Amino acid sequence: MLNCETGMGKTFDIGLERLTGGSGFSIGSAITTKNEDCAAQVGARAEASELDAIRGALRGTFFLETFGCQMNDHDSEKVAGVLLSRGYTQVESPDSASLILYNTCSIREKAAQKVFSRLGEFGLKQDEGRIIGVLGCVAQQEGEEIFRRAPWVSLVCGSASYSKLPELLARVEAGNQRVTGLDTDTDETFETPVTRRDNPWRAYLTIIEGCDKACSYCVVPYTRGPERSRGSDSILGEVRQLAELGYSEVQLLGQTVNSYADPTARKMRFSELLLAVAETPGLRRVRFTTSHPRDFTQDIVDAIDTQPKLCNHVHLPVQSGSTRVLRAMQRTYSREEYLEKIAMIRGAKRPISITTDIIVGFPGETDEDLAETLSLLDVVRYDAMFSFKYSPRPHTPSLKMSDAIPEEEKSRRLGILQEKQREIQAVRYATMVGERFELLVSGKSRRENQWSGHTSCHRVINFSSQEQALLGKYVQVVVTGATPNGLSGEQAP
Ligand code: SAM
Ligand code: SF4
Repeated sequence: MLNCETGMGKTFDIGLERLTGGSGFSIGSAITTKNEDCAAQVGARAEASELDAIRGALRGTFFLETFGCQMNDHDSEKVAGVLLSRGYTQVESPDSASLILYNTCSIREKAAQKVFSRLGEFGLKQDEGRIIGVLGCVAQQEGEEIFRRAPWVSLVCGSASYSKLPELLARVEAGNQRVTGLDTDTDETFETPVTRRDNPWRAYLTIIEGCDKACSYCVVPYTRGPERSRGSDSILGEVRQLAELGYSEVQLLGQTVNSYADPTARKMRFSELLLAVAETPGLRRVRFTTSHPRDFTQDIVDAIDTQPKLCNHVHLPVQSGSTRVLRAMQRTYSREEYLEKIAMIRGAKRPISITTDIIVGFPGETDEDLAETLSLLDVVRYDAMFSFKYSPRPHTPSLKMSDAIPEEEKSRRLGILQEKQREIQAVRYATMVGERFELLVSGKSRRENQWSGHTSCHRVINFSSQEQALLGKYVQVVVTGATPNGLSGEQAP
């Protein structure tokens, strides 16, 4: 798949004259091509790259690699905005960068290890005069220990300190060797005047940062700090700006997005905010992730029912089907309470697709607990599932729990769980053959006349069409084929 979302479709959300601090450059065509096809964007990139070269000469070049979740992806879009506004130019390879940044994830051990292996690659190139920085969750988790393990690193900054990034970068640029931003005791959110979004049609927007829950396995409250909601007026202002720039889909983000608590005098509830965002002229779809089951309430379902622009998809991680394990995980709901939330969603007037996250092999999980998780899959019949082997994380209560499950046993359980979900998806997807969906087209295959896009309910469908220049457009597609992992179809009139 040639995917314009991740290829050359880089877009800026404001004019370059602001990026360069009013130096008079203009990048109008890069902004106005958001809804054109890939070819037009290539042209825009060509103009942009000439300007990039001028800006690069002013400051330097940066390479930014992102690991982990959508929130990290969007944090990186904002970090890139900060750097562009300081006169840096983004490059696609660390070899040609004067500043190399890794925005890291530590949710599972493997993700954290990847970062140290990347840093190791630079140990040998210390004398090349590059600045290397570690951002995000591993930065917060490991702190100054990173300087010990990789002395060639100059900047270590957790996400709760991103609002101080310009100041921290200024110190690094002035030659300071070990600059840190590790404070999590903050009520600030990371808002930038400039964001360099990767996708030209769908914009991410973080509305709540951090997490006040205390799931016993999860490092996020430690790495991202306490919950901080962004003001509704600022969110709605940015959404209006995004719609004016041609974005048709907005995805509101938060670790517990539905725990949103408006800090302004308007005190908008999350469901009110959803409705207000959806009313923005020009927007066609609004989605949100991730919802926490405890804070999932009827008014959110009612909002989806009354406003068709609110996508009919809810990601509602359950983690386990066993109340006993849920208690040990400190998830704050039982199996029965979770199923009540599912019944609430299933009671909506239009079908809402439900997806989830599950962890297997939590300390002390028995075969009976696993059987309860499998039976929960039978009851809920999720549209999709993200499944993980429990990974012990530093600074988490479950680290000290006894009854660890051996790795091979975790793998066995994961296999059983995934096979169960595969069977459920095979049946679910087969019933969709003949159904018609509206797709936002976001990918074009190398194969002639083959495209892909996603539905409001967040299913990806590969489809054929004789039309050209479909990227970023909304089309009707009829499903003609189904496998347990995906759907295919044809464009319908
Ligand atoms: N805030 C979301 C929630 O409450 O469901 C989850 C955010 S977390 C970044 C994404 C997923 O990673 C979680 O839903 C969980 O399934 C998984 N996860 C988190 N910590 C984990 C751990 N220590 N081991 C394995 N999976 C983990
Ligand atoms: Fe982690 Fe739980 Fe917060 Fe989700 S709700 S980010 S799993 S602590």
